[in-house]
Amino acid sequence: SGCESEDQKLKTNLSRIKHKIVVLSGKGGVGKSTVATNIAVALAQAGKQVGLLDVDVHGPSVPRLLSLQDKQPHIGQEIIEPVSWSKNLWVMSLGFMLPNKNDAVIWRGPVKMGLITQFLRDVAWGDLDFLVVDCPPGTGDEPLSALQTIGPDAYAVIVTTPQGVAIDDVRRSVTFCKQVGNPVLGIVENMSGFACPDCGKVYDIFNSGGGEQLAREMDVPFLGRIPIEPEVARSGDEGFPYVKVEHESPAAQALGRVVKPM
Ligand code: ADP
Repeated sequence: SGCESEDQKLKTNLSRIKHKIVVLSGKGGVGKSTVATNIAVALAQAGKQVGLLDVDVHGPSVPRLLSLQDKQPHIGQEIIEPVSWSKNLWVMSLGFMLPNKNDAVIWRGPVKMGLITQFLRDVAWGDLDFLVVDCPPGTGDEPLSALQTIGPDAYAVIVTTPQGVAIDDVRRSVTFCKQVGNPVLGIVENMSGFACPDCGKVYDIFNSGGGEQLAREMDVPFLGRIPIEPEVARSGDEGFPYVKVEHESPAAQALGRVVKPM
């Protein structure tokens, strides 16, 4: 039947991708998209063939982070061509599909979940070393659908900030991955202290270290701390990925270290 062949198409598409990295967060605004985008760019800079899929239905921000707002994927009869950011980094985002950049995504749940499957099945990703997926935040139906569609071999990277509520959310995210059966590659603590742009010294503003403590407690790897750095926000606003620039700042080094185990 048609369904079987669609299933087969999804399997074939996914089988051509060596490593799948799903970036999750307990809640919005913690830097999940920033981390996902910088991971993808860092891997591409290391010479890997990389796909970046943005299925954050609440606010697809990858096109803006990579200055791709004006690009559109080519949509053929059966396949969708991802947008190329460089010769070895291909991007697909729900944001490309919105007629107006300011439109909020008001589609109902099942439609959103269908879109996630469609992006995995119908986008011509080709042979990739890595597919990095920027998931919707939280532990609801949307990230669940993304994980289930990609399968149990997808590694989760969980982004959190050091504050208490965010830490509780991340505890739920780890449990969620364990329940679905996906391995956790590790936890990233973002906005961990403030890195002074003048002297480079890192000031502890919120209680930093919570992410590392939680990682230990939940027996998952800790991937590192990324300090708050005005340049990280500026690079996002201006649409260039932070790790692309030859920074030696604490945030750039931390982002670089995050991809080491990959
Ligand atoms: P999420 O995807 O979790 O909603 P974003 O990646 O969109 O979060 O980040 C939210 C905001 O915080 C953005 O404006 C981003 O530029 C900023 N931001 C993220 N990480 C940092 C950081 N380490 N230092 C400074 N600003 C940051």
